[in-house]
Amino acid sequence: MSDPRPPLQSLDEALGRLLDAVQPLAHTQTLPTQEALGRVLAQEVRSLLDVPPADNTSMDGYALRAADVSTLGTILPVSQRVPAGVVGLELALGTAARIFTGAQIPLGADAVVMQEQCEALPAAEGLGQVRVNASVTAGQWIRRRGEDVAQGAVVLPAGTRLDAAALGLAATVGAAQLTVRSRPRVALFSTGDELVMPGEPLKPGAIYNSNRFTLRALLQGLGCEVIDLGIVPDRLDATRAALRDAAAQADLIITSGGVSVGEEDHLRPAVQAEGRLDLWQIAIKPGKPLAFGEVRRPASADEKAWFIGLPGNPVSSLVTFMLLVRPVILRLQGARQLTPRAYQLRADFDWPRADRRREFLRVRLNEQGGLDLFANQSSGVLSSAVWADGLLDNPAGQTFSQGQSVRFIPFSELLS
Ligand code: AMP
Ligand code: MG
Repeated sequence: MSDPRPPLQSLDEALGRLLDAVQPLAHTQTLPTQEALGRVLAQEVRSLLDVPPADNTSMDGYALRAADVSTLGTILPVSQRVPAGVVGLELALGTAARIFTGAQIPLGADAVVMQEQCEALPAAEGLGQVRVNASVTAGQWIRRRGEDVAQGAVVLPAGTRLDAAALGLAATVGAAQLTVRSRPRVALFSTGDELVMPGEPLKPGAIYNSNRFTLRALLQGLGCEVIDLGIVPDRLDATRAALRDAAAQADLIITSGGVSVGEEDHLRPAVQAEGRLDLWQIAIKPGKPLAFGEVRRPASADEKAWFIGLPGNPVSSLVTFMLLVRPVILRLQGARQLTPRAYQLRADFDWPRADRRREFLRVRLNEQGGLDLFANQSSGVLSSAVWADGLLDNPAGQTFSQGQSVRFIPFSELLS
């Protein structure tokens, strides 16, 4: 009998093929800015104004002309009081204006002296005088008009995922609404007759379904609308029916388990019957088998949902999701940055046995700035991923020893 396993391909080849195949979803939505957290911008945000819109003070104190206080201890009359939100008058020659953080600098003033360096000399009438007990440089404590954002500048390009700071910046330039991509609709199901749900009795031979929880959470974290179709039994007819149901509702179908070439692995024939499928062996550890294809939508012959079948082992499905499904979802969302940033860090352990495949080890940052290894790297041990802060990306065939620099991808780069 011929070997049914397809040849190994590299992670980069597999990723390239996935990203070539999928295109950003066409639908966009316009949302109030405060409801756009986690969404991806479909249209850039451009500023119609300078930020700050005018020169203003970053300190409570006195606005004056630096040239008027060339000697220490100069006394100036206080000619006006300028709280934040009020536009003062042009500064009378040889005077100072009492001013408060955020207030616009009065015309004619070119510096602010903080109140801690001044002495207020009150008078029976009027605003009194101020003694300036510090040397003053023109421009000091002034936030310049446009120093954050210049009028006309693109502050957030299309493809930006909107985090807290990005929403704040959009608001700073006055954007009340943002145009974002619609959420990808992703159908999810787990295969395996051994699976039961937490809360159900654990019958002999059964295990709890963990992938359903992990994958659902990963999808939600990426801003997908999850259509959770539960557990599908290891039968061809049931698997085909689940695929049709999923394709009718979703842009992308994600499954776990059943993509090896065992007799109980029905996903391959099911997807082949309902669409088209490639079974890939990816040269990574954990996570070798991956299925990629498409499932026809029942109503329309030419429309289809993408299909990605992940391996069943919990760490394999988590890691392959992070490395291969996440970029696909980002592509569907039209995001700019598809690949995670990685950092060179010091390994604080030896890795004496090379593997033929590129390995993604579960490691944790220690307080000395190095990386520690979780002792059990088995693809079934989900505790490793909870303990870890990220993945050490070790090239195929490579050993290393304590103190060497290695490539580290933090989970924070892989989760959103
Ligand atoms: P499979 O890819 O279906 O051959 O499954 C590989 C291994 O992962 C087996 O030990 C399964 O029991 C386990 N597994 C499959 N699906 C899940 C799941 N949803 N949750 C936890 N373990 C699973
Ligand atoms: Mg199975």
